[in-house]
Amino acid sequence: MSDSFDVVVIGGGPAGYPAAIRAAQNKLSVACIDEWKNRDGTAAFGGTCLNAGCIPSKALLESTELYHRAKEEFAAHGIKAPDVTVDVAQMQKRKGSIVKTMTQGILALFKAAGVTPLQGHGKLLSGHRVEFVGHDGTRRELTAKNIILASGSAPIELRSAPFQAPYIVDSWGALDFDSVPKRLGVIGAGVIGLELGSVWRRLGSEAVVLEALPDFLAIADQQLAKEALRGFKKQGLDVRLGAKVTGATVANGAVDVTYTDGKGEQKLTVDRLVVAIGRRPYTKDLLGPGTGVELDERGFIKVDHECRTGAEGVWAVGDCVRGPMLAHKGKEEGVMVADLIADRFAEVNYKTVPSVIYTAPEIAWVGLTEEQVKVGGKPYKVGVFPFLASGRARAMEQAQGFAKVIASKDDDEILGVHVIGPMAGELIAEAVLAMEYSASSEDLQRTIHAHPTLAEAIHEAALAADKRAIDSINR
Ligand code: FAD
Ligand code: NAD
Repeated sequence: MSDSFDVVVIGGGPAGYPAAIRAAQNKLSVACIDEWKNRDGTAAFGGTCLNAGCIPSKALLESTELYHRAKEEFAAHGIKAPDVTVDVAQMQKRKGSIVKTMTQGILALFKAAGVTPLQGHGKLLSGHRVEFVGHDGTRRELTAKNIILASGSAPIELRSAPFQAPYIVDSWGALDFDSVPKRLGVIGAGVIGLELGSVWRRLGSEAVVLEALPDFLAIADQQLAKEALRGFKKQGLDVRLGAKVTGATVANGAVDVTYTDGKGEQKLTVDRLVVAIGRRPYTKDLLGPGTGVELDERGFIKVDHECRTGAEGVWAVGDCVRGPMLAHKGKEEGVMVADLIADRFAEVNYKTVPSVIYTAPEIAWVGLTEEQVKVGGKPYKVGVFPFLASGRARAMEQAQGFAKVIASKDDDEILGVHVIGPMAGELIAEAVLAMEYSASSEDLQRTIHAHPTLAEAIHEAALAADKRAIDSINR
């Protein structure tokens, strides 16, 4: 096998593997190195997202949401299901088989595209060289005109609550519980805390979420955040804001947590504690001496807007560089770099990266929040449409939440779209497309939306921005 390639990608997660495939589509010779190993020792492409992130969490969210709906909503439909029970082992088995199918699918995609998969550790050396050490210990030196670093991220550990499996765990640990913890503690009311807190709460855990900040979901539009917090509280998720964890110790098969809040020192005992306070870039043993690749003060690989590092022919994409830690952001960066290497036009529009939180109801947005628009000082208008007024949402028994469109008063440009409600993560795609093509709210207003669909909520919210909504009262 040749050790010389046009492109070598280090990292086979959602940033790295699409970069490898696109580079191969561009008729370049490509190798993709990935060191991921699952708990059973098997190697798998797909990185955090497919093995321990997006995919397994969505599998469990789907299963637990079905259980919750069977218990809480079927009766309203006239369906009697008094004996609905949960088989956690089967739920986990289903999750595992989805992950396996998806990760093995990457090898099939590589084969079809002509990408050489290499499973083991990759290290960038100077002079367009990469050291590869396979999982079987074999060592090779590869050369490549272009090298793409896509080494991803790892969970941040909290000094006051260090990981101690199976009691104090990160998100991967929380995805793998084999039974429902009676008392669950979660540190961090971010995306992971809310998604995984929801999973185990729906299955019956008494779930307490400790969030250090005084505001809930500070990154989201606050009208949405307020609605979301109301919903989570109703579901029994006990979110405690302004809570700073000072310690966590394992004793007698449980975790004693201490934290301070506005009222002073507090204590909490839980059976399992999940620490979900964010992730940090992962670059362990990635860079050899003299490569010219620099890290910033937070450990991210320094890149420009086109993901070029300071070293000629070396690029970096995904969670290991600045920007939101999202699979689709990494994918777009990987594909952009593979196209730029092949001298094709490519760019990533960071203004239209959507965010989705896959709770029930789902929360999704693109563009600016109302708070950010206010700070910008631009005159703006807002249209809100409640799902209570949507026939489809009512038919689904899912009429919580709303769609919100924020547009510029001067030229009607859409500045942000925010949705909390059923299938919000799917609905936001229309708003992303609209913003990508610089649509105005009038463009959305003039676009025909099928009836009855959830998407009509975005149509009506755009109309409401000009007080022309038909199916809700204009205020
Ligand atoms: P990673 O997926 O971390 O992949 C990096 C890969 O590189 C890994 O396989 C790693 O082993 C390998 N690697 C690292 N260093 C080396 C080396 N030196 N040599 C060889 N291989 C190496 N994002 C979403 O957009 N939607 C979601 O729904 C979502 N859900 C999530 C749920 C959870 C619980 C978690 C933890 C994350 C979730 N994310 C989600 C975030 C998403 O997983 C990340 O943004 C995404 O995986 C980043 O992709 P990446 O390719 O940059 O890094
Ligand atoms: P996050 O940044 O979303 O949330 C972390 C939360 O923890 C924040 O609210 C923060 O204020 C809080 N926090 C920080 N330190 C704390 C402390 N000491 N005590 C209490 N609270 C503290 O991070 P995450 O939830 O760990 O997720 C990590 C990354 O994975 C995120 O960047 C996210 O984008 C990504 N992810 C995305 C999805 C999705 O797209 N649906 C799902 C899961 C994860």
